[in-house]
Amino acid sequence: MNFKKQLLQLQNQGAYRSLKILPQGTFNFCSNDYLALSHHSKVIEGALQATKKYGAGSGAARLISGNNDLMERLEYELSQWKQVESSLLFNSGYHANIGVIPALADENTIIFSDEFNHASIIDGCRLSKAKTVIYRHNDMGHLEELLKNPPQPPFVKGGDSHFVPPLKKGVRGILIITESVFSMEGDLAPLEDLKELAEKYDALLYVDEAHAVGMFGENGVGRLGKNPSENILTMGTFGKAFGSYGAFVCGSDILKKYLINKARSFIFSTSLPPSAMGASRAALKIIQGREGENLREELWSNVSVVNKELGLDQGESPIFSIKIGDAKKTMALSERLLKDKIYIQGIRPPTVPEGSSRLRLTVSARHTVKELFCLIKNLEKIL
Ligand SMILES: *Cc1c(COP(=O)(O)O)cnc(C)c1O
Repeated sequence: MNFKKQLLQLQNQGAYRSLKILPQGTFNFCSNDYLALSHHSKVIEGALQATKKYGAGSGAARLISGNNDLMERLEYELSQWKQVESSLLFNSGYHANIGVIPALADENTIIFSDEFNHASIIDGCRLSKAKTVIYRHNDMGHLEELLKNPPQPPFVKGGDSHFVPPLKKGVRGILIITESVFSMEGDLAPLEDLKELAEKYDALLYVDEAHAVGMFGENGVGRLGKNPSENILTMGTFGKAFGSYGAFVCGSDILKKYLINKARSFIFSTSLPPSAMGASRAALKIIQGREGENLREELWSNVSVVNKELGLDQGESPIFSIKIGDAKKTMALSERLLKDKIYIQGIRPPTVPEGSSRLRLTVSARHTVKELFCLIKNLEKIL
């Protein structure tokens, strides 16, 4: 393998990636810290107190000696919030998707996956070895067409289509996977239609709410709301609106027991550090309460300012997708903005489809009016 040649090739395609440290005083418009909780004093205090009491690291995977009452309490609080029987923590959203999907699906399962689903979902599908059928982004007509004529299992001779025990539905071994708020487009999945289709075709619906929890739904529970039905599995992360790190899956008690036994990314990885869980607990308390309501109000107000001033016709979420097309041009625009202290990372293939490179802009509750107008002025200048 010629590393140098490969890297050069990436450079020629405008696809070369490198790490950056933002210069001081730069306005960050691409973080997923939507409610600015990563710097909230109570969230920081939560991390500090948990570290003092439980230490800097958990020392082992949870099934060995890495379990403690902090984790159990956070899971209990998540379940109360979502009004589900059980919740299970994962080390990150990536861990959750590459752990849960292969636990639910095997060679004899069919997965229907939105074409714009996150890389961690794609990797989860690949690891599962399931037959994965891609439907056009948010296209329910296309999904139903595919559901009507699914490839017929068993795909492996002698195989037996399987699904987890709690899912009375889904006996046919069909899994539909979508993001709730699409991370790179900023648009919303038609969850009501997806629920209906899942019901109609006896499928299990897996919804990744990474960019929805904290911001959508009553008490910030996400777009699926509280107490989702039995054939829906919901995943959320702590790394975005919670301002912390980690992830969780919510569902039935038996599902939790099943995942503890089957999800390899859960079984074979050191559990979350106490600091992350202390921070997440504090963030959850804020998100559920009055302060969370206020933060969401500020967030949506900022979102509508940007949407209106830039005439974008988006604003369903705090993620705006400004399509440029060419990868090199996109990166040049990002560099140019950075000179004016506006940081918006350019997004290129393979994160997004070829020819759809873009500036992915995010707004937070704590952006000031001055910062927003500085952004707007500079974007208008270059676009
Ligand atoms: C960010 C993201 C993930 C990964 O979550 P991490 O906690 O950052 O690993 C998974 N799914 C979606 C849709 C995401 O946007």
